[in-house]
Amino acid sequence: MDPTQSTLVQAQGLLRTRQISAVELTQAFLERIDRINPVINAYITVDHDGALEAARAADRCLRAGNATPLTGIPIGVKDLFCTENVRTTCGSRMLANFRPPYESTVTRRLKEAGAVILGKTNMDEFAMGSSNETSFFGPVRNPWDIGRIPGGSSGGSAAALAAHLALATIGSDTGGSIRQPAALTGISGLKPTYGRISRYGMIAFASSLDQAGPLARDAADIAVVLQILAGHDPMDSTSIEADVPDYFNTLANRLDGLRIGIPEEYHPDGLDPEIRCALKEAERVLLDLGASIIPVSLPHTRYAIPTYYIIAPAEASSNLARYDGIRFGYRCQEPKDLNDLYTRTRSEGFGPEVRRRIMLGTYVLSSGYYDAYYRKAQKVRRLIAQDFHQAFEAVDLLLTPTTPGTAFPLGERVDDPVAMYLSDIFTINVNLAGLPGMSIPCGVDQRGLPIGMQMIAPVLKEERVLATAHAFQCATSWHQRQPEL
Ligand code: GLN
Repeated sequence: MDPTQSTLVQAQGLLRTRQISAVELTQAFLERIDRINPVINAYITVDHDGALEAARAADRCLRAGNATPLTGIPIGVKDLFCTENVRTTCGSRMLANFRPPYESTVTRRLKEAGAVILGKTNMDEFAMGSSNETSFFGPVRNPWDIGRIPGGSSGGSAAALAAHLALATIGSDTGGSIRQPAALTGISGLKPTYGRISRYGMIAFASSLDQAGPLARDAADIAVVLQILAGHDPMDSTSIEADVPDYFNTLANRLDGLRIGIPEEYHPDGLDPEIRCALKEAERVLLDLGASIIPVSLPHTRYAIPTYYIIAPAEASSNLARYDGIRFGYRCQEPKDLNDLYTRTRSEGFGPEVRRRIMLGTYVLSSGYYDAYYRKAQKVRRLIAQDFHQAFEAVDLLLTPTTPGTAFPLGERVDDPVAMYLSDIFTINVNLAGLPGMSIPCGVDQRGLPIGMQMIAPVLKEERVLATAHAFQCATSWHQRQPEL
């Protein structure tokens, strides 16, 4: 069997029983990346040497019998996690040659667990986008149809999985950037509770919304990766000090007694009928598994987009102020004076979408507009979070579509930022409320493009989402479909 076609859990078995070595497994992925990445563009940097060195170390651990569940597992990491001495670009010209002097907590934990980091995956510039078209390193193509976008901003992480260029990948999700590309490429992706995984060494976009998380072929694989990443980190004061449950051993086959809420606002009249249909069918599967389905309302849903597109750019404008051409990153040629250095460095180093966000954010934070926009958005954010808290008094989990449509053609929305922003209408509120949310495949449209469904749980109830996803995947085979490449 070609080991690149296995799941993470299957590969674990192959490694433990010595049917394959970590070096052989890593080589198989590196060869496949060399062959397929030129078409898909999922990786910005492939670390052949680093990966093989990690694989050799993993083989030593496996032989010595001190392996973790990730020892020898090839993983791709979104290019916004700092990796010591390995180029970390954030999809931007600004950081095109940046080699971080330190390691992010996410990658440190992966390495300490014995994982093999194959490389750094492509992404929208500074994680701003929903199509992976804002990357300085070119768009990522959707393995299901290379004329279409894979979603964003973790488009490289999602496409790498769909094309079997890693067994799991790490993404980040500020407004949907794990769940939306997972849905559009037919894989599974989890955005944990805000603070469940450390943000230390993860290049900041909007600090009150950013959260790292795993993408993989199914819920069981995600549980294995989350186990390694979750937990408090003294280097990130917003990471949560709470016990980490055993995610793998709490996966379920049945859902008896589980109350699943369907928020009416997530099924608007204009919803793509194929998505509506796929969700209805998924409800039927969940009922058969023992769950009950209950209609609920999240009345402030319609404020999601305006609220997010005030708060996220406001935080971005502040976070991105550090790219001034002085200490690190891109610097313009022959500046006339200090002001010219700042202005040209930032105009040349950032792409149009990032510049748009900085201008939006600076505007809503400026004196005179702060109260009207930023402070008001913070108040609405609270109302949105309260909607969820109220819903969770009646139900255990919410089920919604992940996206309003399936993967759209490359170029279709690049000149229409509002159409692009609307791609995230079902995922953004989950970040505003800080909740865990996961997308898994639940159908296909008439073109054969994947459809995703989103499950949302109360704070720190990742195991509930994973258990539900696993039960659903035991009863269906959508997650096993593969694109022809
Ligand atoms: N698409 C959204 C944006 O452009 C969300 C991005 C993200 O989650 N990083 O801001």
